[in-house]
Amino acid sequence: MGVCRWRAFLRRQSPNFKVKPNRDMSAPLPSGIRTSIAGSLPKPAWLSETQKLWPQWKLQGEELLQAKRDATVLWVKAQEDAGLSTIGDGEQARQHFVHGFLEQVEGIDFANKVEMGIRNDRYKAMVPQVLAPLRLKGRVHALEAQAARANTQRTLKFTLPGPMTIVDTVADRFYGDRVKMAFAFAELLNEEAHALQADGVDIVQFDEPAFNVYMAEAADWGVAALEVAAKGLNCTTAVHICYGYGIEANNNWKKTLGEEWRQYEQVFPALAKSSIAQVSLECQNSAVPMDLISLLSGKEVMVGVIDVASDKAESPEDVARVIEQAQRWVPKSKLIACTNCGMAPMSRELALAKLQALVAGAKLAG
Ligand code: ZN
Repeated sequence: MGVCRWRAFLRRQSPNFKVKPNRDMSAPLPSGIRTSIAGSLPKPAWLSETQKLWPQWKLQGEELLQAKRDATVLWVKAQEDAGLSTIGDGEQARQHFVHGFLEQVEGIDFANKVEMGIRNDRYKAMVPQVLAPLRLKGRVHALEAQAARANTQRTLKFTLPGPMTIVDTVADRFYGDRVKMAFAFAELLNEEAHALQADGVDIVQFDEPAFNVYMAEAADWGVAALEVAAKGLNCTTAVHICYGYGIEANNNWKKTLGEEWRQYEQVFPALAKSSIAQVSLECQNSAVPMDLISLLSGKEVMVGVIDVASDKAESPEDVARVIEQAQRWVPKSKLIACTNCGMAPMSRELALAKLQALVAGAKLAG
């Protein structure tokens, strides 16, 4: 949904709704190739521990809520200043991209986490346990979605974990069936996705790194669960599939994947047939054969042009080179230059430099 359409939508929902522009509306919006982040951005040191995947918050109660909101607004502004055309909340209000959602789900015991091997035992994580039927306690992401919406007129994307990735990041002590539990989570995701759409979010993206681990299952039921999570949405829908954050366990795993990474090959045909509008893939410094994009015929493609595992910002030329390669398989009008994955565990300075490189490279290629 474009800016004008969401404003009209909100007016219909709430006649007193007013958009309060905090930016110069005459400022030109970015043109040419669209740019976006995959999802997460580093949290400031005053909000939480830094450079960790599961950081501890530094504040509590009302102070924590205010700090989460402030950090969201800070990154919205930073993305606008860098020149991105699509803006995200940077996942500043959630400790982790999966557990941030689970905290608002009834039926989950968060007090007693257990250690579990995740992503086919690639690494261990402390995960909460599902003990009873699942139900949302209420809104999950209203605070940061509304804060982001109130502070940008650009296209706003909001990320949620996908059902298959959720079931791979929680211990099941109740359902006894991954598929059944995934579809139960998909219904809850759908509820929150509709609420985000009503908040004025333009794109709801589901993150499914598990699709690159359980490829046969992803094609078999993962995409169907995703469709349940996205059912009935009028806003744009997207799925992000990646090789994970730039952490040591993932970097070591990538070394075992051989000369060509063909994981996407199994799930892209199922996604091409689905209703999901945008699909992301990881390209910069990866061994993914670019021609796999041809399996996504008709879809918009978020091409990963920023490596989240390197500690050096790409040059504009590095970014432009990948975009130009991708353009052999997807027209410019359907190409969105994006980061390979989230940037949560990185330093703020590096993330900012990478945002600037993303936009400079897209301009160079565009
Ligand atoms: Zn990712």
